[in-house]
Amino acid sequence: MELPARSSSSSGGSDSLSPPSIAGSSNEQPPPPSAASAGPSAVAAGRHQLSRYESQKRRDWNTFLQYLRNHKPPLSLSRCSGAHVIEFLRYLDQFGKTKVHGQGCAFFGQACPPGPCPCPLRQAWGSLDALIGRLRAAYDESGGSPEANPFAVRAVRIYLREVRDAQAKARGIPYQKKKRKRPPPVPAAGSAGGSSAGAAAGASSSSSVS
Ligand SMILES: [Zn+2]
Repeated sequence: MELPARSSSSSGGSDSLSPPSIAGSSNEQPPPPSAASAGPSAVAAGRHQLSRYESQKRRDWNTFLQYLRNHKPPLSLSRCSGAHVIEFLRYLDQFGKTKVHGQGCAFFGQACPPGPCPCPLRQAWGSLDALIGRLRAAYDESGGSPEANPFAVRAVRIYLREVRDAQAKARGIPYQKKKRKRPPPVPAAGSAGGSSAGAAAGASSSSSVS
């Protein structure tokens, strides 16, 4: 094996940062077998995914606490109600990126409007729904009692449902409930494997079933 000539690879000039001694030492020591490195990296990938949700949750939670601090009058978490949570969701709308057509807009109900319109950008229902889920969990983890969780109250659920229905109409996108999948044919437990055994032990099995 030959090391590639440095002069040919250094045309960009950016690789001058890597000292040549590292290239020489790595040539002598073979890299660890790929099988050994596959395990830890897969675990790390899974952990990374988890920490992304966790960090997002923490960020959302800090945003909400900041919102409470800036609230006028200031609001403590213990006095926070579902109405305040809804107020928070409305406040977030100004940072939204989803066009929601008003009833008077010519594009109302069109999924792919052919042109621009002055309708406001809002938080998409799916974003709010996921946000509430994270904040509900964060509240639980912060030690709040489940009965007092302002993110889990009925008013917030109703608000989210209203947002979903309104955005579905305005954007022409039906947010369907989980489509009921046709249940896969369930093999009858007794028909295939148990036929011979059931026939042999007919008396004892019938008594145990009833
Ligand atoms: Zn519009």
